[in-house]
Amino acid sequence: MRDILPPESGRWSSFVDVFRSTVSSAGYGQVIAPLLEDIGVFHRVGEATDVVTKEMYDFVDKGDRHVALRPEQTASICRAFVQHRPATPWKVWYTGPNFRYEKPQRGRYRQFEQVGIEVLGADDPDVDVEVIALGWDFLGALGLRRVTLLVNTLGESSERESFVSSLESYLRSRLGDLSEESVATLERNPLRVLDSKRERDQAVISGAPTIMEFLGESSKSHFDRVLRGLDLLQIPYRIDNRLVRGLDYYRQTTFEFAGGTLESAQNALGGGGRYDSLVEDLGGPATPGIGFAIGLDRTLLACDDEGVFPAFDLGIDVFVVDTAGGSEALRLTNQLRREGFRVDRAFDNRSMKSQMKAADRSGARYAVILGEDEVRAGTALIKPLRSDEDQQSVSSGDLAARLMEKIQ
Ligand code: AMP
Repeated sequence: MRDILPPESGRWSSFVDVFRSTVSSAGYGQVIAPLLEDIGVFHRVGEATDVVTKEMYDFVDKGDRHVALRPEQTASICRAFVQHRPATPWKVWYTGPNFRYEKPQRGRYRQFEQVGIEVLGADDPDVDVEVIALGWDFLGALGLRRVTLLVNTLGESSERESFVSSLESYLRSRLGDLSEESVATLERNPLRVLDSKRERDQAVISGAPTIMEFLGESSKSHFDRVLRGLDLLQIPYRIDNRLVRGLDYYRQTTFEFAGGTLESAQNALGGGGRYDSLVEDLGGPATPGIGFAIGLDRTLLACDDEGVFPAFDLGIDVFVVDTAGGSEALRLTNQLRREGFRVDRAFDNRSMKSQMKAADRSGARYAVILGEDEVRAGTALIKPLRSDEDQQSVSSGDLAARLMEKIQ
């Protein structure tokens, strides 16, 4: 877990601002869900995933409830849907931290931030396209250009089940060729073996059956409609039949946004897919859903690698320098802030030289200097700090208007 300090923290807020603006322009409203849920909410997500079995921060609270810090937010959103029964399609977005007890490394932390959307209650393949397009457009709006969209389908439950059992028999027949880790994964969840990036497993995986052999007409046509929609919107993609995604609840369309320059284990910036049984599993009516989550931490690393979406200090407009005792600075700073300027000042009666240094460090474009002469005459001196404009003496009454002209 890390501390995020300025100016990086400002970059985090801007990241969420870009996301909010992308998805709210498509009619998505924000859900703010609690960080803690009853552990049962997450158990429904998949008893066979590491996220749930090994990585949850769970504990018994003072009221003897077994709770967990959320490892992801889709389950919380579905729980909220079941509890509040909003009209469908319910189009929502979220942001905030999640917690997983993973082995921390670059791009993988125990507290990490995600932004995401979910649409509940619509089966239409156009919804899949809308969701994927919003993720794609968001990453584009950050300035990222080297993102690859991977898409796959996992079919309906029954098709997925036939596929998984055929995959399992195949993997068992090649047990001796698999890595130790994949043999263990096979016991818990054969599908996840396809996620392995280990070289030893690759040869086995490349000969494995694919979901395509098990798809019925309706799944095929759903997938085709999604692909045609992406073509129509000119969003480039790659079909990747090995893409199974981490969590157990996915059905039909699954997708991932892979960053171009991160090492392969951490190159998934985000991803998502359809889950046609999660709401039901949580006690609600049968409701189709689809969504994605994009990791902020990892996406910002991809931005660093591509040299886009830099951290920047919003900075301030004006720094008030007062060598006349300080009370005029107090009044003027407050007045300018109320008029909408971003203003800072020095404290502790520092010397003129030290205040000017602070003004320079602050990034302000102008210093407003109040010396004894100015205070006596009811004027102030506007001194440019970042250009070679002349300094200017103005009457206190005109100061705000003059600054406004200069700053705009
Ligand atoms: P998931 O919820 O596992 O599908 O992950 C979606 C995205 O969240 C990933 O592509 C990452 O960008 C991000 N993510 C997941 N786990 C972590 C983590 N431990 N640290 C940082 N980012 C993560």
